[in-house]
Amino acid sequence: MILKQFKELKEFLSRPQEVVIIGHRNPDGDAVGSTLGLKHYLDKKGHKAQVLMPNEYPDFLHWIPGSETVYRFDRQNNQSVKALKKSTIIFLLDFNALHRVGHDMQNTLEKYENDFALIDHHQQPDDFTYMYSDTSMSSTCQMVYNFIEMMEDVDMIDKHIATCLYTGIMTDTGSFRFRSTTSRTHRIIADLIDKGAENDKIHSNVNDSNTYSRLLLLGQSLSNLEILPEYKTAFITLSQEEKKKFNYEKGDTEGVVNYALSLKGIVFGVIFIEDEEQGIIKISFRSKGKFSVNQFARNYFNGGGHDNASGGKSELNMEDTIAKFKSLLPQYIDELQTSYEV
Ligand code: 5GP
Ligand code: MN
Repeated sequence: MILKQFKELKEFLSRPQEVVIIGHRNPDGDAVGSTLGLKHYLDKKGHKAQVLMPNEYPDFLHWIPGSETVYRFDRQNNQSVKALKKSTIIFLLDFNALHRVGHDMQNTLEKYENDFALIDHHQQPDDFTYMYSDTSMSSTCQMVYNFIEMMEDVDMIDKHIATCLYTGIMTDTGSFRFRSTTSRTHRIIADLIDKGAENDKIHSNVNDSNTYSRLLLLGQSLSNLEILPEYKTAFITLSQEEKKKFNYEKGDTEGVVNYALSLKGIVFGVIFIEDEEQGIIKISFRSKGKFSVNQFARNYFNGGGHDNASGGKSELNMEDTIAKFKSLLPQYIDELQTSYEV
């Protein structure tokens, strides 16, 4: 855990500030929940907080309180730049390095003259003036709860804040099932329910928003699944053509990789998704137990993340990407075989 200059940050926040809060590119539930949860809290404390996202996020997160106030850097560039110009501090939430916001926004942020404050649970964070980094945390939303607690303001958590934070903890823990879910996570969740988070509605808003074509896309993904039993590995591919056929929309493939891991005996699950727009194959890696997909993604696919959930990309075509992936597995055969004992 790194806690850097917290006292100084607390002192800085004792006077009204113009705050910008930023999540990573392709924001997920934890990025949206943590940025908006922090925004509601800082607004309530008398600051003016504006959330900026590099690009769009899926429909199933648009109901989160305050979502309508978010500026997208790619679409609402003028408003975003204006907000950055007048800001006195920038909070970076749920990512560890500036490149995670994408080239354009990264260039803008690198010229920023005031201080950055990072709150994040990813490995190997870059250095910023104020930092709260803890890779053992289930989610950045859990850390925002801790942050508010360190600010001695838990009593200020209201229904909006509680709803935002509940959402990110829920999505980043796979609904409270991953190893990062501790008794403390459950205690925080209990407190968020006491403070007004309507758990049944949150689960339903996030999970029961499928379109028919999304289910068909899932069906296609599952029929593309390939199992490599000797490596306890299963992977899924999804081509641009298949995405088009089933009216792919942002977020439609969220969580699909987990089906690979849901197979009995599989400890390494991967999905390869062709992305014509960026000219890459976007990859999600998931593992059970000791096998670190963070290292794997860093070493071979220009990515990173957490030990059991990470992402990366490949500039080869799908066929060559799969060939490269398969060629990497033999050296990990022992690690994969012993990664997770049931
Ligand atoms: P997902 O597979 O859901 O996109 O991402 C899983 C985890 O890996 C997330 O915590 C995400 O922040 C991280 N991640 C995803 N893609 C990348 C990437 O290209 N680079 C890095 N460093 N991390 C990534
Ligand atoms: Mn997260």
